[in-house]
Amino acid sequence: MYDILIIGAGPAGLTSALYALRANKKVLILEQKNYGGQIINAEKIENYPGILEISGFDFATNLYNQVKKLGVTIKYETVEKITEEKIVQTNQNSYKAKAIIIATGTEAKKLNLVNENKWIGKGISYCATCDGAFFKDKIVAVNGGGNTAVEDAIYLSDIAKKVYLIHRRDKFRAEDKYVSQLKKKKNIELILNATISSLNGNNQLEKITIKKNDNQEETIQIDGLFIAIGQNPQNDRFKNVVELNEKGYIKSQDGVHTKTKGIYVAGDTREKILRQLTTAISDGSLAATIAINEMKEKDEKK
Ligand code: NAP
Repeated sequence: MYDILIIGAGPAGLTSALYALRANKKVLILEQKNYGGQIINAEKIENYPGILEISGFDFATNLYNQVKKLGVTIKYETVEKITEEKIVQTNQNSYKAKAIIIATGTEAKKLNLVNENKWIGKGISYCATCDGAFFKDKIVAVNGGGNTAVEDAIYLSDIAKKVYLIHRRDKFRAEDKYVSQLKKKKNIELILNATISSLNGNNQLEKITIKKNDNQEETIQIDGLFIAIGQNPQNDRFKNVVELNEKGYIKSQDGVHTKTKGIYVAGDTREKILRQLTTAISDGSLAATIAINEMKEKDEKK
């Protein structure tokens, strides 16, 4: 029996663990991939208050080490189901806890085109900082118009010979600061009001077809495609204990509680206005503190 079981070892989950461990709770973190969540892929973080600049990898590793030092147990298993009784079923084991914090973040959205899955690692990537180095002096394209796509295009422009940035509108969702940096880069070509309609090649990606809003099609030769069209939550497995919105994010009246007593939510996986490191950290600390307080109240009533 654990006091607090945290699902997800991204910034929100690790921060929950930090607060719970410092309150002497017995904590288990279940993570399906590796620690750090999406921030581990950020080349640099410049908008975290109090830190001038740090790489996503260093930030995530510092947070992980901070939590490890306090003696957390982390198991790399995939959670399949949780029950109202707070039993957590993974692909390998089952665990029981007094409280559960769901901090599962989101996963990269796919274009859902033919060959997309087949060519992941063969020209298609969802992480510029992970795979950008494979495209030194090559031609790459980035798809998307948010912070991730614009930052990826800037990052890749220092590695690749040429970068196409393909976006379905003519206005970027990304912050102005990144858009102005983007526009200064000589080897980035913007292809606006356009979507990718097909992925072509033999054993790997070689060309993409782009469909403009006026229905004109164009095929461009590329070595790599970085898809950065946003994120999706993976919460269907929890829908017996939480309420989901139309996009699959967990609904919470106050940003912490779910519809089930003792099951809390934190970070990008919940319905919220701003999905950033600052808000994930804030969510993680709040969820753990509220879980601890409610556990104490319950014990006092006994
Ligand atoms: P995002 O902000 O949701 O942007 C996704 C982009 O992809 C949008 O421009 C969207 O177009 C486009 N798109 C969505 N579906 C598409 C489709 N099927 N085909 C073509 N284009 C499609 O996602 P994100 O850039 O991954 O960012 C996610 C969150 O993380 C955001 O809150 C962002 O601010 C945050 N983030 C912050 C930083 C930072 O602070 N430095 C860095 C990275 C990410 P429309 O614009 O037309 O909708």
